[in-house]
Amino acid sequence: MPEPTACDLLISDAVVIPGDGPALGGVSVAVRGDRIHAIGAAADFAPAHRIDARGGILLPGLVNTHSHTPLMVVRGMVEDLGFAPAYTKGIPQGHWLSAEEAYHLARLGAYELLRAGSTTAVDFYLHPEALARAAAEVGLRAFIGGRIADVDTAELAEGRVRHDPALGEALLAESLDLFARWDGAERGRIRCILAPHAPDTCSRALLKAVGEEARRRDLGLHTHLAQSKGEVEAVRAREGMAPHELLDELGLLNDRLLAAHCIWLEPGEIARVGAAGMNVAHAPIGNAAHGGIAPIMALRDAGANITLCTDTKSADMFESMRLAIGVARVKGAGYAIKTAEVLGWATANGARALGLEGDIGIIRPGAKADLVLLDAEAPNLRPVVDGTGIVVHSGSGANVRTVVIDGRVMLEDGRPTLFDGAEVVREAQKVADGLWRRAGRAPVTG
Ligand SMILES: [Zn+2]
Repeated sequence: MPEPTACDLLISDAVVIPGDGPALGGVSVAVRGDRIHAIGAAADFAPAHRIDARGGILLPGLVNTHSHTPLMVVRGMVEDLGFAPAYTKGIPQGHWLSAEEAYHLARLGAYELLRAGSTTAVDFYLHPEALARAAAEVGLRAFIGGRIADVDTAELAEGRVRHDPALGEALLAESLDLFARWDGAERGRIRCILAPHAPDTCSRALLKAVGEEARRRDLGLHTHLAQSKGEVEAVRAREGMAPHELLDELGLLNDRLLAAHCIWLEPGEIARVGAAGMNVAHAPIGNAAHGGIAPIMALRDAGANITLCTDTKSADMFESMRLAIGVARVKGAGYAIKTAEVLGWATANGARALGLEGDIGIIRPGAKADLVLLDAEAPNLRPVVDGTGIVVHSGSGANVRTVVIDGRVMLEDGRPTLFDGAEVVREAQKVADGLWRRAGRAPVTG
C-alpha cells in the first residue's frame, strides 16, 4: 500500500458538491497551504489537522457579490418604509457614523457573512478602512472599497440633490488611498475595488474620473444600476439617457462591470446590457422586500453573468438562492431556472465576476481552499439524494458548521477561530443603540 500523502488539513467523509459536476459521497478533501491538494479516500492522506464531516455536505465557499456592512444598523426597521430609507429622517444616517462605529457594524456584518457560509464578500461604504479592518480580523476573503459619490447624502435626506465636485474628489482620493494600504493584505485575502455609488449620485465627470482610474489599474467597477425608478428619472433628466447608456458612453458598460440590482430595465435595454457581458449582483431578498425584482432570466439570456448577493439583509445566501428561484417563477420563468444553475450564481459566477474564475467557487485540486461544511445532523438537510437540491431548497446559513478560507479554518463547529463572536455582537448592538437613540427611537434593549 502506498504511503499516505501528507497534507495540512483533511475534511474527511463528506458529501462534496464540487460545483462543476455531480456530488460525490464519502470522499475527503485534502488541503495543503491555501489550496485544495486532492480529493480522495481518507486513508490516502496523513493530515496535520482533520475535520470529520461525518457525512455532512461540503460546498465551495459562497461568493456574495454586494454588501454594505455598516447599513446593518437599519436592518429590520426600514423594510416597511419607502425606497432608500437610509437617507430618510427618523432613521440613523450613514454620514453620522464615526470610523469606530462603522468598524463595529462592519465586524458584525463580516461575522454574519462568515457564519452563513460566504467566504468571499464585496463590501463598500463610507469609512472603507474600517470595512477592511473588519474583514481582515474576521478572516473573510473580501473586496473592499469606499462608496464614491458627489451627491451629498446628508442633503438627500432633506430632499435636495446637489453635485459637489469637492466631495467626489475627496471620496475618490480616500478609495485610492485604501489601495496603498490594503490591496493584497492578509496574504491576498483583502483586495480593493473602485465603487462609484450609482449613475444618479455620481456626476458624469466623477464617473469618468473613476473609470480612468479603473483603466489605469486594470480593474472593473462596482456600482448600483437601475436600482430605483428615481435613479432612472434623475439620470434621464440630467443626461437625456438611461443610466446604462451613460455608463456605456463612458466606456464602463462591459464584462468588468459588476452592477447590483438592474431592476428597472426595459426589454430593449436588457439586450444592450446583456450583450456587454456585464456582471449582475442579483439581490432578491432586498429587492423583493421593496416590491421590485430584476428581470434576471432575460438578463441571463441576453448574455449577462448572474451572481448573487444579500446586500445587507440577512446574509443568508441559501435564502437568496431559494428566493431567486421563487421570484423568477412568479415572474413567469417557469422551469427555465434550475437549482444547480442558481448554486452556480452563488459560487462560480461570483468568482468569474471578481476575476477569480477557477480559483474560488469550486472544489477541485489546485483551487483555493475556500470551503463550507454543513451540519451532518440537521434535519432540514435530509434526505440527501443528489446533494444539490436539498442544499438550495432547504438549506440555511444556520446550517454552516465549519468554514475554511485560504486553507485556514475560520469557523470551527460554529465558532469563529480568530475572534470572540459574542463580543462582536455586543459591541455592534451598543453602537446601534446609540445611533437609534440619536434618530429618536429607543431600542427595546434599553
Ligand atoms: Zn448596494
